[in-house]
Amino acid sequence: MNPFDYKDGVFHVENTSLKKIADAIRTPFYCYSSVKIASQYTEFCKIFDDIPSLVCYAIKANSNQAVLRILARLGAGADIVSEGELRRARAAFIPAEKIIFSGVGKTIRELDLALVEDILCFNVESEPELELLSSRAVTYGRKARISFRINPDIDAGTHSKTATGRADDKFGIFWRDAPRVYKKAAQLPGIEVTGIAMHIGSQIIKSQPFDDAFSRLSKLITILRADGHTIKQIDLGGGVGIPYERDNYNQLNLKAYATLVRKYVKNLDARIIFEPGRIIVGNAGILVTEVLYLKKSRNRIFTIIDAAMNDLIRPTLYESWHEIEPVVLAAAHAPYITTDIVGPVCESGDYFAKERQITRPKSGDLLAIRSAGAYGAVQSGTYNSRLLIPEVLVKENHFDVIRSRTSFDDFISLDHIPEWLSDE
Ligand SMILES: *Cc1c(COP(=O)(O)O)cnc(C)c1O
Repeated sequence: MNPFDYKDGVFHVENTSLKKIADAIRTPFYCYSSVKIASQYTEFCKIFDDIPSLVCYAIKANSNQAVLRILARLGAGADIVSEGELRRARAAFIPAEKIIFSGVGKTIRELDLALVEDILCFNVESEPELELLSSRAVTYGRKARISFRINPDIDAGTHSKTATGRADDKFGIFWRDAPRVYKKAAQLPGIEVTGIAMHIGSQIIKSQPFDDAFSRLSKLITILRADGHTIKQIDLGGGVGIPYERDNYNQLNLKAYATLVRKYVKNLDARIIFEPGRIIVGNAGILVTEVLYLKKSRNRIFTIIDAAMNDLIRPTLYESWHEIEPVVLAAAHAPYITTDIVGPVCESGDYFAKERQITRPKSGDLLAIRSAGAYGAVQSGTYNSRLLIPEVLVKENHFDVIRSRTSFDDFISLDHIPEWLSDE
């Protein structure tokens, strides 16, 4: 069963009508399928079940507590990049021994908390971070298990803002520097070198960049082992792309990725860590919005909707393409229009689609913006003093609000008036 499909002309998530949810909680809102989240995760694990491995879901893709609970119950670990994510992961009962800490700018507070929690591994991204971690570990009388995140200088062939493995990207340690940095780590107190890591980018849809990066990593592992370092854990990062267009066959599928991984890891004798984010949740969520106006200008028809770039920034930030469909199917011979689908925010970059063909909508119609489960709600903000929108989780024929819409009172009361400006 496809968890996102029409039933009697109305878009359903599993067995729940989106129209029913919209009537109950108003638009815009995110809606996730619990079945789809679980099945994406189990499919990912299954494809690698013959390899000693741990799947550490990259929780920055979608870190709602309910989403994390689904994955935690299935045994997932977490890849985190901040104190907030560490706290979220632990609050959802993901055990510390399954948590990997990535990121170029871990603060002293964050290192301390992760040391006290005794997480599985710090993926260290610079020498100053290594030195600080060593001294904090000594202070706490702990050993920090580390991998170095290597920058293999490979272009992932994705959008420039989601490529992370080129020499001029801020991420990782340049691969040629690795032998020297591993040697340094081996001499530092409080540090236990356990492995190596990489993550070259996101929404990667070709196998070549992975092939090139894995190849470089394998050669490096041979050198590091010859130097006497323990590499018992190899973290291949995330990055596997998903189809945003429904019929995108040009897509690196999970099987091809798995074949590639196998080619390299079969002789490496190590536990493999995967950090998938987007592929787990991206196609498990949609953004539901209402059409406010149809506006004709000289050359264009604008479909103005009540969701905006502050709710889903991907089109603005990455020029990403999202399928947009009516929640209630139009009559068979309804006319199509070519339209720019845009939000109310005061920025020309506030759009969801340009020159898109859809059946002509009218005010009050609902639209579903698909593939919004990853890097959607987590990147939302309050620009133009718009409230954070709700997230809804469907299970079969019922739904729960798993994050409430914030209130204007709460929102405004976060600001404080200095005494000298106070009128009371
Ligand atoms: C963002 C990120 C991931 C997840 O990437 P996806 O493209 O969502 O799979 C994995 N590892 C690291 C270090 C990341 O920063």
